[in-house]
Amino acid sequence: MLICRYAATDGPSFGIVENDAVYALRGDMFTEMRERGARVGSLHDLTLLPPTVPSKIVCVGRNYAAHAKELGNEVPEEPLLFFKPPSALIGHGEAIRLLPQMGKVDHEAELAVVIGREAHNVLASEASNYVLGYTCANDVSDRDFQKKDGQWTRAKGFDTFCPLGPWINTTLDPHDVAVLCSVNGEPRQIGRTSQLIFDIPSLIAYISAIMTLMPGDLVLTGTPAGVGAITSGDVVEVSVEGIGELRNPVIFAESPASPR
Ligand code: MG
Repeated sequence: MLICRYAATDGPSFGIVENDAVYALRGDMFTEMRERGARVGSLHDLTLLPPTVPSKIVCVGRNYAAHAKELGNEVPEEPLLFFKPPSALIGHGEAIRLLPQMGKVDHEAELAVVIGREAHNVLASEASNYVLGYTCANDVSDRDFQKKDGQWTRAKGFDTFCPLGPWINTTLDPHDVAVLCSVNGEPRQIGRTSQLIFDIPSLIAYISAIMTLMPGDLVLTGTPAGVGAITSGDVVEVSVEGIGELRNPVIFAESPASPR
């Protein structure tokens, strides 16, 4: 099942995607009690929103060896964790905003795990029971601030620095799928999740031994080699095999996005 979130006249709503159509999602999206309701429109006519509303976005740095190497870093001995704030999220089609104070801003294509059940101290062998599904993410990063600050909150935390979507695939087998990024149609990043240094079950076990993961929370699993700069006028496309394509234009802006 593909679960999306879209702007309805009465506010953000969850939907089920089938071919080009979106249907209302009835019941609880986090349980198997999901049902397809009435058709609400076509994908072309609806505004897609980030497909989950997380309490936190836990990210993993340097989880592909070739990417660690391209930025001159060692492969970590344990997962290297950081947060992005939920306020950084934007949906498919929404613009990544570059502000005057920013430096070199890079794209980072990633597979994102959407948590489906409260997860506390979960065994790796049980981890898949705590996953709702998978989606595409772009861990947009200001390299100048990342180097200058030492910790990464500013570099990775700006509004619009976490494009997510276009929807959640609840039936994907994530263990060996392609993770790709193109800019203006030119391929930039190509990797496979089989190259992850710490695989998804190990990450869920490791993170849930530190902090309780809540339904809707996100784990961004790291980016493959080929990161590079984006600038105003670019269109960035992150795709994960078996999920779809997350496309976002890039614009210069004088100020952060206004709150939703
Ligand atoms: Mg990243």
